Amino acid sequence: MPKTSLVQQWPPKYNSDYIPEDNEKYWYKDIETASKEELDEIVFAKLKHVMRYAYENSGFYQRKWKKVDFHPDDIKNLKDYEQVPITTKVEIREDLEEYAPFGSNVCIPRSEVHRIQGTSGTTGKPTIFSFGKEDWERIAHQHARIMWSFGMRPSDLVFIGSPLSLYIGSWGALIGAERLGAQTFPFGAGQSGQTEKAIPWLKDVKPTVFYGTPSYALYLAEKAKEKGVDPKEFGFRILFFSGEPGAGVPSTKRKIEETFGGICIDSGTMAEVTPWMSNTECEHRKGVHLWQDIVYTEVVDQHSKKLVPYGGEGVPVYTPLERTSQPVIRYWSGDLTTWTDEPCPCGRVYPRLPKGIYGRIDDMITVRGVNVYASLVENVIRNMDGLGEEFIMVVDRENIMDEVTIRCETLGSRNKQELREEISRGLKRETGVTFKIELLPMGTLERTQFKAKRVVDKRNFKA
Ligand SMILES: [Zn+2]
Repeated sequence: MPKTSLVQQWPPKYNSDYIPEDNEKYWYKDIETASKEELDEIVFAKLKHVMRYAYENSGFYQRKWKKVDFHPDDIKNLKDYEQVPITTKVEIREDLEEYAPFGSNVCIPRSEVHRIQGTSGTTGKPTIFSFGKEDWERIAHQHARIMWSFGMRPSDLVFIGSPLSLYIGSWGALIGAERLGAQTFPFGAGQSGQTEKAIPWLKDVKPTVFYGTPSYALYLAEKAKEKGVDPKEFGFRILFFSGEPGAGVPSTKRKIEETFGGICIDSGTMAEVTPWMSNTECEHRKGVHLWQDIVYTEVVDQHSKKLVPYGGEGVPVYTPLERTSQPVIRYWSGDLTTWTDEPCPCGRVYPRLPKGIYGRIDDMITVRGVNVYASLVENVIRNMDGLGEEFIMVVDRENIMDEVTIRCETLGSRNKQELREEISRGLKRETGVTFKIELLPMGTLERTQFKAKRVVDKRNFKA
């Protein structure tokens, strides 16, 4: 695909029959290995189109921008883009309530809506999204292109091990795999007894690729072992994940690769900024690449909302560049990460998040003024001999001091006192905080077939 056509034509039209030859490394070599200047040019051209489109078609953005006297023409170059107002989850929720049920940001006629999806809605009412058919097809196409980068090919058979529900993760993985020409096995997850049923199916059908959450993959492995099945027998050569930060946590990545014998790929942004695979590791697994020509991802200072330099820490802010049914402009993630533009062995120009996302704000607790991320704790727990995979952090306030307890499960293979001391040292080193350690028998903590909840904050209930 010539670069210039992408810049001139918006929304882009892609050849729906195109699939590269199996031995091709890139889906669109010209774009993926462009120079930084060329990539910036493509990104900025698309940003201008998206802003102009939202200004002309979205009631939500018209009102939002009018209030602060912002006009898309104020933005003259990519550097200026950091002046564009941030969009937050709260604003989207309020808009959905005020203009129920679909909100005032749907820019196509209702009759042209092809798909309605939503957030998983674990707390409160889910946020719903409307996708037009062309958007849906572009999402499939871009996901296929990204899947290509970690080695998926049309000869693969993909097991979807996550709920086929309003949750867009499963559908995004499914349609991407289909567009790539792979076979799919949308088994789903989350129903009682489903994992037990999956085990014989996996042994018989032998999918080559797994998709789900990292906690579910580890749960599946645990169940398989209980039934005397080595998870390597499933024969997955690639396992890719979204919905949780775990696949980017080094010890979890290693554990998944050792358990299943395939490569572990971290992926995913947020449902709101689908195509959510725009942050995904390539086969080299050096942290997620930011596929900037699909969703422009900025890492910004949490207060000033301006870009932090490469090497710095900040909050990812997302702008999908090809959505016409529901544009989202500078969407605030509330996550924390660090980014780099150092070259990756794959040769792609896209910057990377070398440590992935450390965790969602929900998965962080501040204990005596220190930010403790569940992903850091996870790294310690899953590196420790003699422990199971599951853990929960509980923070409580005794007298005036915050106390944080880690509850984890022991395999019973080690002296408890020694184990406690080793966990305590590891957690202190990784987080800077002293934890109370509670060792429980295997199987005590609740298992999840979906997203694990790692943090329980009891401090709010005492006043
Ligand atoms: Zn790479």
